[in-house]
Amino acid sequence: MVGYEKSLRDSNVPQYHTVKRILLSRRGQENASWPWLTECHNQNRLVDKIQANKFMLGAILDYQISSDTAWENARRLSEDVLGEPKHLWVAITGIEKEYWDSREAFDHYGLHRYPAAHRRVWRIGKDIVDCYSGDARRIWRSQTPPTVLKRLLQMRVGPEISRMIVGALIDTKQIEGQGDLKADTHVRRVLGRIFSGEQTIAKEAHEIANRMVPNNSWELDDPLYWIGKKNCKKNSPLCHECDLIEVCTYAQRS
Ligand code: SF4
Repeated sequence: MVGYEKSLRDSNVPQYHTVKRILLSRRGQENASWPWLTECHNQNRLVDKIQANKFMLGAILDYQISSDTAWENARRLSEDVLGEPKHLWVAITGIEKEYWDSREAFDHYGLHRYPAAHRRVWRIGKDIVDCYSGDARRIWRSQTPPTVLKRLLQMRVGPEISRMIVGALIDTKQIEGQGDLKADTHVRRVLGRIFSGEQTIAKEAHEIANRMVPNNSWELDDPLYWIGKKNCKKNSPLCHECDLIEVCTYAQRS
């Protein structure tokens, strides 16, 4: 029996609808923005090719490093190192793969802490060039969220990053529809602590979120992310400052 299912049988089980209400009431409270996409959305226009490709690069880098670092490294490679090319993915895959995969290139570009994350930029970029003419917008333009998700998964962008990309595109009206949350470490920690008292795994986080908001758990992503980042810290969570204290298993146990 998984942790949160077990906790549902306890008398102090938080009510899904209460947790959902609290989380949704926080949606939009933080100044969340998606690099390059939000600016276009605020100007009531669709993202252009240069911005779309930079967004895609930042998203690909956005795992196991801070998101701020990922987006900044995408900006730095595109603008400072490569001189803001019209065709970012053509420029990246124009670099010899053998060199890109070398330790020298890993150190030179400084995109990520892990060599595998550096190498996959070239691999995914090659798919974008070969399948979408080097224009990331062609992955999502006039497509539904499930189709975009399927395409990203086919390119092995990764399930959680792919969900994040789809959600960001929905948030900024590049596409229309519904999406699933990204079960990153903040989200898994908050949902796990609320329902079972301890961090959960991605599969369970998705199941819990889908119980609260079936077919559109992306709506919970933003509030969960910010609670995880600001209140529900890995060590010493700030429960006394958290809206969820009355319904949280971890807080009630402490
Ligand atoms: S009450 Fe505490 S443990 Fe529960 S979600 Fe909030 S910060 Fe995390």
